[in-house]
Amino acid sequence: MESKLDILRKKVIECTKCELSETRTNSVPGKGNFRSDVIFVGEAPGRNEDLKGEPFVGVAGKKLSLALENAGISREDVYITNTVKCRPPNNRVPSKIEKETCQDYIKNEIEIIKPKIICILGNTAFGSILGGTEITKYRGKIGRKDDQLYFITIHPAATIYNQGLIEVLKQDIKKLFELIRELKNGKDISIDIEFSS
Ligand code: SF4
Repeated sequence: MESKLDILRKKVIECTKCELSETRTNSVPGKGNFRSDVIFVGEAPGRNEDLKGEPFVGVAGKKLSLALENAGISREDVYITNTVKCRPPNNRVPSKIEKETCQDYIKNEIEIIKPKIICILGNTAFGSILGGTEITKYRGKIGRKDDQLYFITIHPAATIYNQGLIEVLKQDIKKLFELIRELKNGKDISIDIEFSS
């Protein structure tokens, strides 16, 4: 029997609800473990993702895998997705209307997986999901919005040309999984920022 995620995946693959469907090669549904405690969310697919129809498969994806491995986590253990499922031409930031049109898919992914924490990757996803800015100020912190916990970190692509940032990403991902372990052990964790709905 098809799972709810399989059905959602098909809807994303066939979706023509916004004009990004006219320029994409493939739409890029989320991928990974539907029992994951965490969903990683970037903004939108890039060139490699568009060609393969999978999230975070380019150089940025390798950096994310590296940070996960450093924390003792395999990519297959987690679920990875984007707020917008089709690549905007020339990797421009998705428009407000594109984000709004696509938002039901990420909401459905969250409803199905029910993650303990959603890990926001980068400033644009931070803005889209939590209305935040200045990722450098908020990275490494825990936020809460509508009873959902969020962990904020930099986009793995930021580490490609700035070697110092790979250590920042590694530290953040390690901290994220320490927090998840604490949550699973029933410990209270302190919330750094409350975001309004
Ligand atoms: S970006 Fe989202 S809403 Fe637009 S066509 Fe792709 S899947 Fe559909």
